[in-house]
Amino acid sequence: MIPFDIALQTVLDNTILQDTEKVTIEKALGRVLAADVCSDIDMPPFDKSAVDGYACRRQDILNELEIVEIVPAGKVPRKTIAENQCVKIMTGAMIPLGADCVLMVEHTGMIGENKIKFLRNDTSANIAYKAEDVQKGRLVLEKGVVLKPEHIAVLAAVGCYEPEVSKKPKISIISTGDELVEPYQVPEMSQIRNSNSWQLLAQAQQMHVDATYEGIIRDDEQSTLQIIDKAFEDSDVVLLTGGVSMGDYDFVPEMMIKSGFEILFRTIAIQPGKPTVFGKKAGKYCFGLPGNPVASYVMFEILVKPLLFGMMGHDFSPVMRPMPFAQEYKRRIAERLSLIPVMFNNDGTVSVINYHGSAHIHALAFAQGLAFVPIGVNTISKGEMADVRPI
Ligand code: AMP
Ligand code: MG
Repeated sequence: MIPFDIALQTVLDNTILQDTEKVTIEKALGRVLAADVCSDIDMPPFDKSAVDGYACRRQDILNELEIVEIVPAGKVPRKTIAENQCVKIMTGAMIPLGADCVLMVEHTGMIGENKIKFLRNDTSANIAYKAEDVQKGRLVLEKGVVLKPEHIAVLAAVGCYEPEVSKKPKISIISTGDELVEPYQVPEMSQIRNSNSWQLLAQAQQMHVDATYEGIIRDDEQSTLQIIDKAFEDSDVVLLTGGVSMGDYDFVPEMMIKSGFEILFRTIAIQPGKPTVFGKKAGKYCFGLPGNPVASYVMFEILVKPLLFGMMGHDFSPVMRPMPFAQEYKRRIAERLSLIPVMFNNDGTVSVINYHGSAHIHALAFAQGLAFVPIGVNTISKGEMADVRPI
């Protein structure tokens, strides 16, 4: 049994970066940027009005101002503003030469057809100045970032229509177990529905990698070996669940070895998730994840995700917040790091969810975070802090 930190480090130390490719921005959401992006222009590219109103000279704002032009967004003003003149200007339009402020239309009144009067004494400039957000050539997005919608906007604004991103690793998902039936089937006596595969598929989809579900395989050595060999051919990362503990029909670790994988660890001092096997072969990886759905979920989040993101060049290190417990938490044995599902309270505390163990997926469904209870800690008193990772 190795500590979780060592298991994670082993995964990270063995992570090999994927190649890169170019995709257009409509396909770039969730992808990891593989090259720094700099702006090809100043932003804003010119002094522009931040409001609808009248551009004029600040020294004239208390006088009646003659409207000499109307400037919509997208048009270059023709006139230069002279004493007691203004142009009617729209939000986003270019500020004419000579003007140094824009009076908001709401703060002005018309005098006849062609003149305005400012109804206040003072105004802010209401100008977004050229290059005040970004200067041409400046770094706007660093490689390694996972592209979110607001990043896509930045790419669009700086003319990076085809960003270079890391290729997505291909993943195969396999469940093992004679007792398993699919969600669209009614379990007979002694059977349960396969939830892990669908959960893993969703976890993979959430991080925008390519996952294929290979189905349920029976608990026998031949089927296990065959599916591992096939999945190794088809994908970069093979995820199996079940068949990793000490039962008579738990063949996954042995068949991983038989298939040629070098096993880097087999058990981790963690709860849930103790029987988690990790192997590598020819730049590809195989995880034998625990059969219990909560354990499978947790191990994907804390070990598989760092691997997949690492393969794409993103350093996945989610925030860990020290948070006080709303109630006392106790456990009898403290040999392993425990990850317990918690809910966030409005007063900044967390409450431990009533949780029966690693098969209790319904409890996890209410969780907003996982609290890390370290090895050797039996009790967390009311008000005492533990590190919590939002999920
Ligand atoms: P195993 O590691 O194969 O002994 O499985 C441990 C526990 O997880 C057993 O109670 C299994 O029935 C359950 N289990 C295994 N695979 C799945 C699955 N795909 N979906 C839901 N539960 C599972
Ligand atoms: Mg099994």
